[in-house]
Amino acid sequence: MKHAKMQELGTERIWRLFELAEHEFGAHPERSKRYVEIARGVSKKLRARIPDTLKTKFCKKCGAFFGQGNSKITRTATWAVVKCLECGHERKTGRKPNTNK
Ligand SMILES: [Zn+2]
Repeated sequence: MKHAKMQELGTERIWRLFELAEHEFGAHPERSKRYVEIARGVSKKLRARIPDTLKTKFCKKCGAFFGQGNSKITRTATWAVVKCLECGHERKTGRKPNTNK
């Protein structure tokens, strides 16, 4: 099995798991947390990267899925700070402008 192919499959699974997490969030937030956990496990196991879009969707510290009402995003021109309202962890995301090279 080619490694690149496994990563590709892993990324697909990660997307799917986040979809499920989003779907479950309203009624079962604890289930969505579990899906995030599984997705992170897949990422680790297959060395598949979690897509940037999804990185703002969960708390790296406590693993909570960010649905409505449990996160707060503060945007600046170049980055966004996502704060988890469950554990208080803050995470800076976004792109740094290409200044060199
Ligand atoms: Zn958290």
